[in-house]
Amino acid sequence: MAYDPNNIFARILKGEIPAYRVYEDEHTLAFMDVMPQADGHTLVVPKAPAENLFDLDPAMAAAVMRSTQIVAAAVRQAFAAEGIMLMQFNGPVAGQTVFHFHLHIVPRYADRPLRQHGREMAPAAVLEENARRVREALQRR
Ligand code: 5GP
Repeated sequence: MAYDPNNIFARILKGEIPAYRVYEDEHTLAFMDVMPQADGHTLVVPKAPAENLFDLDPAMAAAVMRSTQIVAAAVRQAFAAEGIMLMQFNGPVAGQTVFHFHLHIVPRYADRPLRQHGREMAPAAVLEENARRVREALQRR
């Protein structure tokens, strides 16, 4: 499948669609997942087009992982997570639904099961507040 330059994350990167942005550098952007599997669920994407792991430039892979480490530390602090799960899906049968490479950062707790993947939209006010908490934790680092 060829990379679709109008996929939802490409449109977020171009500023055509709003997102609850929490972190940005030269090569990457991080924003809240609108259907979070746990409060604080955040996505990190490369700015360069790449559908999945297999057409991601290795330098971009490094940049995404660098940003993920920074953002995951902030998410962990902001949501007092007992653990942090990273997820990344390649291809529809693996669960990929948006075809621009992304890493999921998901807070985990011993007593809280995950919500379902990409099912229920969180209220805008909740996403905004959660983004604010991540941004605040990023400022403290
Ligand atoms: P995938 O299944 O491709 O790994 O994950 C795609 C993720 O993108 C899902 O967790 C889903 O909730 C999230 N998502 C889908 N549409 C949007 C959107 O318009 N904005 C944001 N921020 N996240 C989205």
